[in-house]
Amino acid sequence: MPKRPVVDAELCIGCGHCAEVCPQVFALEDEKSQVIGPDNCGSCSCLEAIDTCPVQAISWEGGA
Ligand code: SF4
Repeated sequence: MPKRPVVDAELCIGCGHCAEVCPQVFALEDEKSQVIGPDNCGSCSCLEAIDTCPVQAISWEGGA
């Protein structure tokens, strides 16, 4: 199973950064980031989004 990003809604402050860096994967809904395209990682900069989330709300699930 490929790795997929997950957002911890408790931590997310809705800054929109991940959706800006990686719009195929993240979108803001109700001021929280939602993973709209978990299988689109690789077509954008998921790692950068994860690394630069100001509250470290994004992590990887599954995969190696
Ligand atoms: Fe939420 Fe982090 Fe994305 Fe900002 S970068 S919207 S805090 S998950």
